[in-house]
Amino acid sequence: QNNEIGWNFDNSYARLSESFYESVEPTPVSSPELVILNNSLTKSLGLDIKHLQSEEGIEVLAGNQIPEGSLPIAQAYAGHQFGNFTMLGDGRAVLLGEQITPSDERFDIQLKGSGRTPLSRGGDGRATLGPMLREYIISEAMHGLGIPTNRSLSVVTTGEAVIRETKLPGAILTRVAASHLRIGTFEYVANWGSTEELRMLADYAIERHFPDIEDNEDRYLSLFEAVIKRQAALIAKWQLVGFIHGVMNTDNMTISGETIDYGPCAFMDEYDPATVFSSIDVQGRYAYQNQPPIGQWNLARFAEALLPLFHESQDHAVELAQEAHAKFEELYHSHWLAGMRKKLGIQNEEEQDEALIEDLLSIMKKHRVDFTNTFRALTLGKPEDTVMNGTTEFTHWYDQWQTRLARQEESKTSSYQLMKSSNPAVIPRNHRVEEALEAAVNKGDYSVMEQLMDVLSNPYAYSPEQEEYTKLPEPSSGPYRTFCGT
Ligand code: AMP
Ligand code: MG
Ligand code: MG
Repeated sequence: QNNEIGWNFDNSYARLSESFYESVEPTPVSSPELVILNNSLTKSLGLDIKHLQSEEGIEVLAGNQIPEGSLPIAQAYAGHQFGNFTMLGDGRAVLLGEQITPSDERFDIQLKGSGRTPLSRGGDGRATLGPMLREYIISEAMHGLGIPTNRSLSVVTTGEAVIRETKLPGAILTRVAASHLRIGTFEYVANWGSTEELRMLADYAIERHFPDIEDNEDRYLSLFEAVIKRQAALIAKWQLVGFIHGVMNTDNMTISGETIDYGPCAFMDEYDPATVFSSIDVQGRYAYQNQPPIGQWNLARFAEALLPLFHESQDHAVELAQEAHAKFEELYHSHWLAGMRKKLGIQNEEEQDEALIEDLLSIMKKHRVDFTNTFRALTLGKPEDTVMNGTTEFTHWYDQWQTRLARQEESKTSSYQLMKSSNPAVIPRNHRVEEALEAAVNKGDYSVMEQLMDVLSNPYAYSPEQEEYTKLPEPSSGPYRTFCGT
């Protein structure tokens, strides 16, 4: 191999304790075909597009060939799934290694759907084309929206069928992440490892994601606080665009603060805080309105995992951790409020702003209006585009809002400018995503998906090409439902 692709792997995670992973190679597949490649991500990773698209590149993306410098492993982790603690781990994913980019950044390169691992339990280790393309679309849309996320480099079809309820085409997604460390990684080590190993993992997380706290006197408390900050900021960003993750188990919550696990997620159309899409979430545990408290609940599990390290440090570390944990709510709320102010073009702070925001949301809920399009209509200065227009409550709210905007020094033009950069004109609407997947999976036509991705890469453009993608679906027979990773 002469590595014209540009792989530049390190394997720092594999140098930690051997009990953190299982060495395993991807299982080769019969006839891989590259169906989509993320050109700009390829370049930013320091990889060569032409060579990654070549037969040799595709062999790597399919798991048929191990690139130079890679040390393939399945990572061990545990997690609270819908509240219940269990052992998990990469059951259908293999970490090839960490690509060091030309700008000296480090990214995990992981194949998802690459065959069984020692952590597969009853699963077949495989993934199907539809869900892998869906993860590709939504993760890249999140990136376009400016929301921290793992990213998607490619999808290859395997040429092999995967047995689900029916036979479906197999596929492998290449996922790129700041790391795959999760709260569940810590839960695993806290439960089955030594305190020494726990410290090793925590030190590793600090070095990789929070190097500026390395010298803090109480570095593990600082680590906890740093993750709280990232997650509070992340979940606020989700709420501000109506993103519903759908499966916020502790194994799906990263230490880096990136969004991970695009199984049952979807964007809310009609504004209703109780919205749930996931077919298995019958209790609504992971409903839109529950995402902040669930985030905080998950962080309590993180604190529990870190307890042995807190105990070793200063006397009050546990109390300080509790205080830090309690601050999540306030932290989250301040991100959310700042974000909502921007969505309404408000550039300074007044006490009554929150009431103004809550008023709008409750009118939106009452009239069951589309979340994204309402803010888009306000951004375009076209209140007449919302069905609330003309109602007493909305007219009253609108006047109050305009008066509020007039009370700040900044011009209305600058407020509308701010709104444009805070309110996406397009999101990956469920019917559009379905349409793209339908064309790709059933007809082998990737043009619908490519056009959609193109629009989603620049959601704040307010360009004429976006118009078509802002339209709502035809009224359907029932609510939209999503399914966990198939
Ligand atoms: P998720 O609900 O996507 O977070 O996945 C939960 C766990 O199930 C993870 O440990 C996955 O690796 C595992 N898993 C999901 N699908 C499969 C599969 N087809 N084969 C083996 N393991 C799987
Ligand atoms: Mg997961
Ligand atoms: Mg999943």
